[in-house]
Amino acid sequence: MIEFIGKSVYKGIAMGKVLVMGKEEDIVKREKIEDTNAELLRLGNAIKKSQKQLQDLYEKAVKEVGEASAAIFEVHQMMMEDEDYLDAIHNMICNENVNAEFAVATTGDNFSDMFAAMDDDYMKARAADVRDISGRIVRNLLGREQNVMSQPEPVVIVADDLSPSETVQMDKEKILAFVTVHGSTNSHTAILARMMNIPALVGVPVDLGKIRTGMVAIVDGTSAKVIFEPSAQECLTAVNKIKEQEEQAKLLETLKGKENITKSGKKINLYANIGSVSDVGYVLENDAGGIGLFRSEFLYLGRDSFPSEEEQFQAYKQVAQTMANKKVIIRTLDIGADKQADYFGLEKEDNPAMGYRAIRICLKQQDIFKAQLRALFRATAYGKISIMYPMITAVSEVEQIYKIAGEVKRELDEAGIIYQEPEQGIMIETPAAVLISDELAKLVDFFSIGTNDLTQYTLAIDRQNSKLDEFYDPHHPAILKMIQMVVDNAHKEGKWAGICGELGADMELVKTFVQMGVDELSVAPSMILKLRQIIREMD
Ligand code: PEP
Ligand code: MG
Repeated sequence: MIEFIGKSVYKGIAMGKVLVMGKEEDIVKREKIEDTNAELLRLGNAIKKSQKQLQDLYEKAVKEVGEASAAIFEVHQMMMEDEDYLDAIHNMICNENVNAEFAVATTGDNFSDMFAAMDDDYMKARAADVRDISGRIVRNLLGREQNVMSQPEPVVIVADDLSPSETVQMDKEKILAFVTVHGSTNSHTAILARMMNIPALVGVPVDLGKIRTGMVAIVDGTSAKVIFEPSAQECLTAVNKIKEQEEQAKLLETLKGKENITKSGKKINLYANIGSVSDVGYVLENDAGGIGLFRSEFLYLGRDSFPSEEEQFQAYKQVAQTMANKKVIIRTLDIGADKQADYFGLEKEDNPAMGYRAIRICLKQQDIFKAQLRALFRATAYGKISIMYPMITAVSEVEQIYKIAGEVKRELDEAGIIYQEPEQGIMIETPAAVLISDELAKLVDFFSIGTNDLTQYTLAIDRQNSKLDEFYDPHHPAILKMIQMVVDNAHKEGKWAGICGELGADMELVKTFVQMGVDELSVAPSMILKLRQIIREMD
């Protein structure tokens, strides 16, 4: 039995087999080999196995997401046959007498750096592909499991760290819990874990070298504890706690279909946050009144090129149609900071949270923004879509957005494409936006307060920095005063104001928010019924 304490991201308990996800660079060691022919044979077998996996993935993806999205696996197969790439690996093995893992990882890094330095955007984007195929071959050489998708049953993921793009690609049905050595409780990976409704711990001081795939683990989000190879008694306690958890969930089920209303008759909207089309199932399952934040940037992550207008349109349309007449607030691209995609070709910045991100990218690279807006406006014809813009700091930004949106609408009119006039609102997540919320309220239809970034910018605390978790205090009086100010300024102009940051799901503050006059709370789907219960018990 090995036990560790970390920081809890989501309460709840799970037990199951571990899948260790390691980064190849942490595992690959340079070793001197005697028999180069045997090494070349090992390499050949690993490449064959990788090709077979890619073919299987291609066939699965064609069935599930269509040929266009599946094409990447074909590209990977072709890249694995590239002569220059293979020659470089062979030469290293034969001339330097190194092990195949080392030769593949080093060649992968060299080719990837070379692609990343090219001017052509298409070639730049290939950098991630070379890293991907090299990683696959290395894992096959090491006999490591490829990924969550290839697991027969749901697993407890144990990793050094997980980026939002890695997390978003995982098959949610196959994950029981997350345990990571690094990572902050305010990161987007943590937010994704909350959305998936699974226990998750970050900052767990575990030596990954000592944990093996296949070990049993109990992850308890309430006590922030993970136990590897638990005793029979510990397993029994965990099974009982899991039963209790299921019973509580059943009790909450009785609140489905009921209003979010206090005993004195005050109502509040409870909406859900989502990151992908497949999350809509959780929204309906938990009886949310609508979607208060669709983080559209997740459609851009975990892939090698921009999603086309058509692909985005289909995603937005599907969400709008599935939600029938319920409101769906889609936030435009909020890429940057921890949400990175190589094909954007964004330069490395010293301070990315305060850098070139979100609406700044959209206003500078208007072709990207316009493609998204066209998709969004087209989708308005299929449901009740509202559009929301992130990271606003100035009135002039909203004016520029409206100008671009106006151009998009004119183009659609000219092409005879129908759309509805959507509600257009903004995220209030910078202190600047709070202080000019009186002026902004005149321009927009609604405000949604992003307390995650608002806390980071107001308290001058990088939300990604796990060392600062204890100082990151969204209950700070400055934040609460700002929320009140934003709500009051919205109401003065007859507009509504909600909260879509993680603070909206803070059970200790629900009462305060209702008293403040907050009109809507948008939270992880699994929190809807818990909040409804608190609201209905309030005087
Ligand atoms: C926020 O900042 O509170 C927010 C909802 O947006 P994100 O967490 O995606 O930055
Ligand atoms: Mg934000």
